[in-house]
Amino acid sequence: RLEIQHLSRAFGGVPVVSDVSLTIAAGQVTCLLGPSGCGKSTTLRMIAGVERPDSGSIRIDGRPVFDARTNLPPEARSVGLIFQDFALFPHLTVAQNVAFGLKTDREAKARRVDELLERVNLPGFGPKHPHQLSGGEQQRVALARALAPRPKVMLMDEPFSGLDNRLRDGIRDTTLEVLKEEGAAVLLVTHEPDEALRMGDEIALMRGGHIVQTGAPYNVYNAPVDRAAAAFFSDIN
Ligand code: ATP
Ligand code: MG
Repeated sequence: RLEIQHLSRAFGGVPVVSDVSLTIAAGQVTCLLGPSGCGKSTTLRMIAGVERPDSGSIRIDGRPVFDARTNLPPEARSVGLIFQDFALFPHLTVAQNVAFGLKTDREAKARRVDELLERVNLPGFGPKHPHQLSGGEQQRVALARALAPRPKVMLMDEPFSGLDNRLRDGIRDTTLEVLKEEGAAVLLVTHEPDEALRMGDEIALMRGGHIVQTGAPYNVYNAPVDRAAAAFFSDIN
């Protein structure tokens, strides 16, 4: 469970994220949707612990990871990350990539790697190297790697935008399935309304650093909070 309260951040006196509050339950996918430059990635980076908020608080499963007195480093937050350029380590095999963040013994590692490669529909891919894989396959390995240590929160920043259209739908479905099985609280950043409608249990609509509307996809789509929100959804068909 991820709880964010009153998170704010400015750069050079310009507010970029303003008073953002969000709660995401375990097993729930919330899509943070909004136009370029509205503050989505900055929000994600603060949750990950790579950008320091000016104010506000972040709790994961009830434990403060950031507030006025707390600022846990990224590796202590139980957070998994996937970015657009899901870079795998090129000199490591698929199995070694997936096992990278695991601190368990050899056998437990191997079991977890096999389990995850199975889940992302890449059984037997362990010994291959990233350059032998298609973009979509690499993306699924990145997903397996991020999920391997069982993070309580998964943060995904435009994870599908580097993929070609034909691949994207299938990979969205696989990703959603795996995320649901693993049960993390998921925050998925996108500027594509159709992606948010397809993947989100909830949509949080962001504009100019503010969350302007949250709700079930159906409600946000059918009852946009204002003209700008309606316009933002209007170019999908
Ligand atoms: P996109 O959809 O294009 O990825 P975004 O919603 O993710 O956009 P952010 O990356 O969060 O947007 O950036 C929000 C604003 O903050 C932008 O105007 C950006 O230029 C600015 N910004 C982000 N990081 C910094 C930084 N380190 N220093 C100065 N300005 C920054
Ligand atoms: Mg961004």
